[in-house]
Amino acid sequence: MTLPPSPPTGLHEGGCAFADGAYVPLSEAKVSLFDWGFTRSDATYDVASTWEGAFFRLDTHMDRFFASLEKMRMSIPYSREALRAILHGCVRASGLKDCYVAMVCTRGVPPKGARDPRLAENRFYAYALPYVWIAPPDKQREGIDLHISERVRIAPESVDPTVKNYHWIDLVQSLFDAYDRGRDTSCVVDAQGNVAEGPGFNVFIVKDGEVRTADRGVLEGVSRRTVIELCGKLGLPLRVAPLPVAEVRAADEVFLSSTGGGVLPIAKLDGVPLPRFPGPVTQRLHDAYWALRKEPAYRDEVDYG
Ligand SMILES: *Cc1c(COP(=O)(O)O)cnc(C)c1O
Repeated sequence: MTLPPSPPTGLHEGGCAFADGAYVPLSEAKVSLFDWGFTRSDATYDVASTWEGAFFRLDTHMDRFFASLEKMRMSIPYSREALRAILHGCVRASGLKDCYVAMVCTRGVPPKGARDPRLAENRFYAYALPYVWIAPPDKQREGIDLHISERVRIAPESVDPTVKNYHWIDLVQSLFDAYDRGRDTSCVVDAQGNVAEGPGFNVFIVKDGEVRTADRGVLEGVSRRTVIELCGKLGLPLRVAPLPVAEVRAADEVFLSSTGGGVLPIAKLDGVPLPRFPGPVTQRLHDAYWALRKEPAYRDEVDYG
């Protein structure tokens, strides 16, 4: 597929999408009512971000996206370098320095009456919006109260959680559980009662100096991977293993990891204050995460012309 030329900076000020092979304003970015991405959540996506005008670990996000496409038996008509150019193009056209940058592939619209997914032509979309926080910095300072929804259980044997997907009904139901109880956000557990993840983030705890996160049943977040690598760099003991709810409730510190905010400290679990907030280990990882984003080796600069 031939790529349109790189759009001028600010062509679609404040947000730009790439749909049907062209850069368009967000208001023109539309999906067909008959796309299985809509009717069956038959889609995969990835979300990268830019901060101060540079992507962070874009290659890692693209690797995950291409791996997800393969697992979903989907394909896009663009090479890796073309995909990179499109994502850079969306950011450049938006004129934004701090962006939420999505790449999406849907199953597409099958021929009339067909029920065979092999017959649908997969569709590719991308867009750049102003950066989205799981919780904004003032809310993080004030203290996020996390609800552990033990009603909502996800099973890795069902929808593969390592494929970033739109099967968000479980996660959205857990958010309602949280709001009904006056909490700020939520996470869900697996069938064995281990804490899995939340709507758009992985969960970490710190207990007796050891950093812990779930080993399976979760999306392997790029921020999760960054935290794991930072533990090595900072010499922090790390254990990647199941996280039983009781051990999470007994943690010294809890934090979330996400492209939407990096390392986000948790103040309370279901209204119960954690012993340490903001915890010293969380603070170190938070600072190290944002320092890493400033390192030239981790900055893929957007050319704003
Ligand atoms: C995107 C996402 C994450 C976090 O992944 P990052 O690559 O760190 O942003 C975790 N869990 C779910 C369900 C997600 O959709």
